[in-house]
Amino acid sequence: AAAEGSLEQGQDEPSVLGNSTDVKVVVRVRPQVLGVELQPDVATCVEVDGFNSLLVRSASEASSMQFNWVAGPATTQGEFFKVVGRPTVENCLSGFNSSVFAYGQTGSGKTHTMIGELPEESDVLPPNAGLIPRIFQYLWRRMQEVQSGMLANSANNTAAAGSGASSPSSSKDGGEAGDEASSSSSGSAAQPSLTWMVRCSMLEIHREEVYDLLRPNSGPLNLREDIRKGVYVEGLAERVVDNMQDALGVLRTGIALRQVAATQYNAASSRSHCIFTCHVESRLEPQPGLVNVRSSRLHLVDLAGSERLRYGLGGMALGEGGDRQLKETTAINTSLSVLGLVILRLTEQQPHIPYRNSKLTFLLQDSIGGNAKTIIVANVSPSEACLHETLSTLKFATRARNLVNKAVINEDTNGDAALLRLENRRLRQELALAR
Ligand code: ADP
Ligand code: MG
Repeated sequence: AAAEGSLEQGQDEPSVLGNSTDVKVVVRVRPQVLGVELQPDVATCVEVDGFNSLLVRSASEASSMQFNWVAGPATTQGEFFKVVGRPTVENCLSGFNSSVFAYGQTGSGKTHTMIGELPEESDVLPPNAGLIPRIFQYLWRRMQEVQSGMLANSANNTAAAGSGASSPSSSKDGGEAGDEASSSSSGSAAQPSLTWMVRCSMLEIHREEVYDLLRPNSGPLNLREDIRKGVYVEGLAERVVDNMQDALGVLRTGIALRQVAATQYNAASSRSHCIFTCHVESRLEPQPGLVNVRSSRLHLVDLAGSERLRYGLGGMALGEGGDRQLKETTAINTSLSVLGLVILRLTEQQPHIPYRNSKLTFLLQDSIGGNAKTIIVANVSPSEACLHETLSTLKFATRARNLVNKAVINEDTNGDAALLRLENRRLRQELALAR
């Protein structure tokens, strides 16, 4: 478990996802799983054909499809995190809204990808931990690194040997604030400070109603729009979390409630959309009186199964009673089909985008064609029996590849000019050092 959970610092992954603000589409092909497949040994219909290429075989033809990354059946949770989770966290720390969606038919591996296995009590992640717990781990690690790196830098720069920094600096010397701050009259109080705040919420959209997953029996909640906040859920519980343990606690609460709710509505959880959201805010005071606040929202979305009832579930052994399934599927498809429509309209560059036609698209409109960096994970089963649904998922994924978002850093500075002066000085120092 230790090796699996370890994240070597500074180790750069091949930048499969690049740096642009286009929506990135990753296909993950799960291995065959006994108990999910009716017959685990049936022929497979998809084959990984290079890091970004997938070969799909049907009875009559084979076609090759390209995505930003194709993760094959052997891809571990840790490898998947490195490519998809890390850049997401880094973007988020830089002040970009970010989101990861898992799309695919029931049983294709969405929940495995997003949540996977959670640790019982300790904070050592099991090898099968999915994106969300790994994102927690990495998020707090990076926040600490950035913070201690900054404190250590400023300690180096001030004449007084500060005893504040608790852990060794991990970054290169690139002195900041020090001398600029010393010119201010407040003397020793001139240490720059950086504080992070993380708030989490978790909700479920079921039959076009929004439910809080952190508060039992909180009836359907309304969506509201506000010029400053954007679209938000009125009355949704938010928990301030100080560390990975707390965040895992919030996640566990939500998962448990999702299960309770599923029994209450007589529905499998695969029939609802689940959204875990982190708000990350950094407050940097490079010098007294100068404040720079960056905030970003990270949406981690486990979508409802994308299968259409009329196609059945392929060769999958999952699923519950027919009647119930019929009702649930019709309702869920409102959000999913509007999502498909929104993506279609966006890629056709139509003037009107029907975001408001479903709860999911209204709530997540920033993530689709808006101010966010988004990764869509299209989960597929390898089995021939699922070919029909797999083709439908890949069609959705192919269309999503054409989406372009407009992500900007969300920041608010009370003295941009002063900050620029500071940055200018820092660059000059670096230049001097380099000579
Ligand atoms: P979904 O959420 O899309 O309905 P699940 O994530 O529940 O699907 O996956 C269905 C089953 O397949 C689960 O038992 C899960 O543990 C297993 N599974 C999915 N993806 C993988 C994978 N990459 N490796 C191993 N097992 C997987
Ligand atoms: Mg699931």
